[in-house]
Order: sequence, then C-alpha cells, then structure tokens
Amino acid sequence: MTATAPPPDAPRDSVVDVASAQPIDRTWVQWAVGRLEADTRRSADTHLLPLRPPAERSVDVYLKDESTHPTGSLKHRLARSLFLFALCNGQIGPRTTVVEASSGSTAISEAYFARLLGLPFVAVMVRTTSREKIALIEREGGRCELVDSAGEVYDVARRLADECGGLYLDQFTNAERATDWRGNNNIAESIFEQLELETHPVPTWVVVGAGTGGTSATIGRYLRYRGLPTRLAVVDPEGSAFLSAYAGQGDAGRGSRIEGIGRPRVEPSFVPQVVDRMLGVPDAASVAAMRFLRSHLGIAAGPSTGTNLVGALRLACEMRQQGVAGSIVTLMCDRAERYDATFDDDGWLRAQGLDWQAWSGRIERAWSELEWPVA
Ligand SMILES: *Cc1c(COP(=O)(O)O)cnc(C)c1O
Repeated sequence: MTATAPPPDAPRDSVVDVASAQPIDRTWVQWAVGRLEADTRRSADTHLLPLRPPAERSVDVYLKDESTHPTGSLKHRLARSLFLFALCNGQIGPRTTVVEASSGSTAISEAYFARLLGLPFVAVMVRTTSREKIALIEREGGRCELVDSAGEVYDVARRLADECGGLYLDQFTNAERATDWRGNNNIAESIFEQLELETHPVPTWVVVGAGTGGTSATIGRYLRYRGLPTRLAVVDPEGSAFLSAYAGQGDAGRGSRIEGIGRPRVEPSFVPQVVDRMLGVPDAASVAAMRFLRSHLGIAAGPSTGTNLVGALRLACEMRQQGVAGSIVTLMCDRAERYDATFDDDGWLRAQGLDWQAWSGRIERAWSELEWPVA
C-alpha cells in the first residue's frame, strides 16, 4: 500500500497508514542471519595461551590468540558483529554493495562475510597496505580501492557507497555499538571464563591496542558491568592520535606504521572513559617484542601483538616492583605471515629507520627478570 502522508500540522480525521518505501526482503534477512549464526557455530573459541616464564614468578602473562579465527585476526569478531548489526538494522538486502574503510584486516574479514552472503564488497585502503592483505581480500572476491593517504579512506568509502546505493559499514563509528558488551560470548566474557581455573583468575591488567577502539570499549564496559577490579591499559604506537588526545594534548596524528592500531584521528568508537591508563610504545620496541615472541616463545605474531607485549611486560615489571602478585592478559591480534615483506624484512625495517635491535636486550631482560630496564 502506498499513501501520501498529509502535512504534520493538518488535522487528521482518520488513521494514516504508510508502508515502508524500501522494504527489505525479510526472508532473505532471516536466511542471512542464519548463515552468520552457522559460521559462529562452526567456529571454536580462541585459545588463551599462558606465556611460559623461564622461572617461577609472581606475575602470570596470558595471550588471547585471536589469530585462529577463520580470517586470521580479531577482526573476524568485529566483521561478524557489523554484518549482524547492519542486517538487523534493515540496512543490508540481497543486492546491497558493502563498502568499508580499512587498514586491511577488517576488510579481509568483511570480504569473507560478504562472500558468505553473496554480496559485492569494496575495501578502501591506503596504497601502502601490504600486498598479502590485498591478495587475501581479492581471494574472498572483494575489490580494493587504493587511496594515497590514511585520512582519505573515510570520505572515499562513503562516496563509493552513496554512488552505488550501497552501505558504508563504517567500522570506526560502529565497532563500539555493534558488539554486545554485556556478554554474548564477546572477547571479554571469553577471557574471564577461560581464566576461571587459573592461580589469578581475575587479572590485574588487560592490555590492548586501539584501531577502531572497539575492543577496548567492549572490555572496559564489561569490567564495569561485572563489577570486576581489573584495570584496562591501552597501548598506542608512534604517530597515533589516541594517546595525545587521552593526555589532553591534541587529537591529530600522522598515522601509525603498526598495522591495525594507532589512527591519524581519534575514532568515534574509542571510549577513553573506560580506559584506566595509556602507554605510548616506540615502534622499534614493538618490532623487538614481535621478534622476541617468535625466537623465545615460538609464537609468530604480527607487530601490534608486539606492541601489546611491550605494554604487558612494562606493567608486569611494575607489579613485581610493587610486590603485587597477579595476572595480565593481552591479545595476539594476527600472525606474522601477513608481514613477510614489511616487519619481517630487515631491509624494510632499516629503510623505516626502525632500530629494533636496540630494544632486544631490554625486552629479554623485562621478560626474564621482570625488571624494566631504564632506557
Ligand atoms: C584492529 C586491530 C587491532 C585493534 O582492535 P580495535 O578493536 O579495532 O581497536 C589490533 N591489532 C590488529 C592487527 C588489528 O587489526
């Protein structure tokens, strides 16, 4: 039924009845939600790995391995939530082109879900995005639109979506609201359930980086909702706007080299009120920690996991110094294999001026003695 609505201030002498102008096929939406639920059902929870220390000690460090999701990073959770959110918002139908601005990992996961639902997908990314990531998106049937600077991705993604009547998923705005922070097996609930039988089941710190800020928002809210005393630390790389804004020193940066974390602007999904503390980590230290994880613990993780480890070690050393026993949880966000031509290439690191060897000894000492070396 179609009807012309009368002007709002006209007197009404009958019930006015107007149907949706653009109804989305609900049977299709039901099918699509079912496909996403089935994907969840096929997936197992990710491991919480205890990092084995060289000797008995007072602080236990755990790594939540988010690299084991089907699309290789913690963005699998986010992409699933963003698609469910948009489907249940009535924003995606059987012919909707889905567009996203991304530094790569989110687009890989979203391309996977778009293909699952038979939808066209376009990723807008900076030209410097690693070739491995572009190949992964294309393998899932997505198209990559490359732009010159990180600051351009948002407007280009919005424009492309508008031009084709598609949907800009907008992870940087929607990450914090698309995830159910109260539970529903989100990352926070999963961590706390997996810790239940440990010596220190309630961690003193959870340490994460911020890309969208969605993960830190989910964890920070969950801690308050559950009345947990655990504190949340966010680690931030060089060039990111998050740390300077948090410190009240301006809200723009040049952008980060550590893929997945650190942004040129403070993203709307970053919720500083639930963050107890921020640590600015040198990029060279992140690389040293990434290398350390592989050489000493056999864990091949990407650079943002290195950033997380630096923050976790720094806080572990502080706890030891203060005589506090307990645990710290941080995340493995993705695997090293995505960075063969960048963070795992010594020539590339030299060209970037990243003297990571200067940090190797300090990371080793922090790990083996829980002694933070003065720089
Ligand atoms: C996105 C991302 C993060 C940060 O997660 P957010 O929830 O977006 O803040 C960390 N590391 C990697 C590799 C990422 O892709």
